[in-house]
Amino acid sequence: MTLIIAKLIWLAGCVGWFVIRLPHQRRARKTAIARREQRLRERVLLTVSFCGLFVVPLIYAVTDQPKFASYPLQPALTWIGTALFAATLYLFHAVHRDLGRSWSVTLELRDRHALVTHGLYRYVRHPMYSAFWLWAIAQAFLLPNWIAGFSGLVGFGTLYFCRVGSEERMMEAAFGEEYRAYRARTKRIVPGIY
Ligand code: SAH
Repeated sequence: MTLIIAKLIWLAGCVGWFVIRLPHQRRARKTAIARREQRLRERVLLTVSFCGLFVVPLIYAVTDQPKFASYPLQPALTWIGTALFAATLYLFHAVHRDLGRSWSVTLELRDRHALVTHGLYRYVRHPMYSAFWLWAIAQAFLLPNWIAGFSGLVGFGTLYFCRVGSEERMMEAAFGEEYRAYRARTKRIVPGIY
């Protein structure tokens, strides 16, 4: 295991994610939107998350910067990161399959929006966010640099904690008792725990 291979595994994970998302992105563009919330705030949060999960590690992958934050690669950690990134991609694929046309990159409700409570949504209310957390953890294992490795946790963590409450309020406003009952029987991102 070498540094360049660890970086390539990270990049392959990002490309895999992009390929999985592409058809859903295309369909989402054609699916009418009934209601949009907090547009500017959402844009800012998405940018912060994108920088943490992609821009900062990409700069590190290409230039090795910031060098002062690097530490020696430990192959065992790289392999754990590889397994976690593979699990992330599988989870992404499965979540997109379950959420279908209800998916949006920001907080919005589609025309005739369906509340999804089947598949992975039976166990947690935010399985896509579980997948993003897993990605951020995989990045920390894969890249032996304190800043590039942990920027995903900071970037996605900011989006998650600023968004999840508003998202649940939006869903509750739209689906009322149905969502309250669903919320009462599920956890947010880790089945049975949180
Ligand atoms: N938070 C969810 C979905 C992320 S995509 C997850 O992590 O899996 C964000 C969009 O999904 C929101 O704009 C909302 O419209 C939609 N959404 C969130 N939970 C949903 C659910 N249970 N059923 C249908 N749509 C949902």
